[in-house]
Amino acid sequence: MKAGYVLSPGILTVEETDLPNIGPHEVLVRVRACGVCASDVKFFRGLKTYRETPYGRESPGFTGHEWAGEVVAAGEEVADFSVGDHVAPFLIISCGLCKFCRVGRNNLCPEKKYVHGGFAEYIKVPSHNLLRLPHEVDFEDACFVEPLACCLNGLEKLGLHVDDVVLVIGDGPMGLLNLMVLKTFGVKVILAGHHRHRLSMAEKLGAEYAANPLETDLETIVRKATDGYGADAVIIAVNNKQAAETALSLVSKGGIVNVFAGAHPTYEINIDINKIHYSELAITGSADAQKKHYQQAMEIIANKSITPSKLITHRYPLTEIQTAFETAESKQSVKTVVKPWG
Ligand SMILES: [Zn+2]
Ligand SMILES: [Zn+2]
Repeated sequence: MKAGYVLSPGILTVEETDLPNIGPHEVLVRVRACGVCASDVKFFRGLKTYRETPYGRESPGFTGHEWAGEVVAAGEEVADFSVGDHVAPFLIISCGLCKFCRVGRNNLCPEKKYVHGGFAEYIKVPSHNLLRLPHEVDFEDACFVEPLACCLNGLEKLGLHVDDVVLVIGDGPMGLLNLMVLKTFGVKVILAGHHRHRLSMAEKLGAEYAANPLETDLETIVRKATDGYGADAVIIAVNNKQAAETALSLVSKGGIVNVFAGAHPTYEINIDINKIHYSELAITGSADAQKKHYQQAMEIIANKSITPSKLITHRYPLTEIQTAFETAESKQSVKTVVKPWG
């Protein structure tokens, strides 16, 4: 099979390699679509590393995790999946024993690893890390199961009510995917970002306001939309110091801020502790997702509550993976997807 590799930071290649051998509890999946995530780009540039995914030729398909595909072979102990099934991953392999795993919070397991390797023609997966997709779901929608699950994990923490005003900071694919789900909740969304083409997509997807804070006064927009109170919830979907400061200044009393995006490199902020106390602010984080969020994500995509493939602006064959990554990184695209089989 052909597989993509990051040989060293910034250097991608596609090479022929043997098909992975599957064990009795594993399944071989033909990858039909694999989204390029901001975390893939950070790995590609050497800003983020993973225990299970080294650089070099040991990791065919490297960090690809937003994939969907079809089963082409199943180990002899696999009862739940058979050849021809359409599948997406539950991404996390965890210990199953720690205090987090015991209550379903596998995403906090200290031993967690990921089912990486989606930038390849085929990927090997433990069968209990697979979700079955209805055949009518397009692979271009199905490859959003993982990112959508992450949104659902974050949104669950916000305790939103109909007509709340939510500020999403960041106009990347995850900011826009959060917006898509928020609109199904009946809340009003203000989305802030720096890219004209992404802001106009946000308007088409139902944002009440899509604003570039470099050109317009975001505070005025938020105060006007909330009778001066500030946003009921703020989602930090692009993480830098400016975004965190904006979030803390524009959240309402009694409101909540979710740090949805990771920061690479990390940074520290000063917080007025009395603001948290007297304003009863909540600050939370969300990282990855629990299995239940993946199941919910699959249902939301299958019942067409949202059509996440609307975010795809660029599609590349596996052989053009270097261009795919450079496009994703340049932010000309909204979502870039690699399709090894066209
Ligand atoms: Zn991702
Ligand atoms: Zn665990």
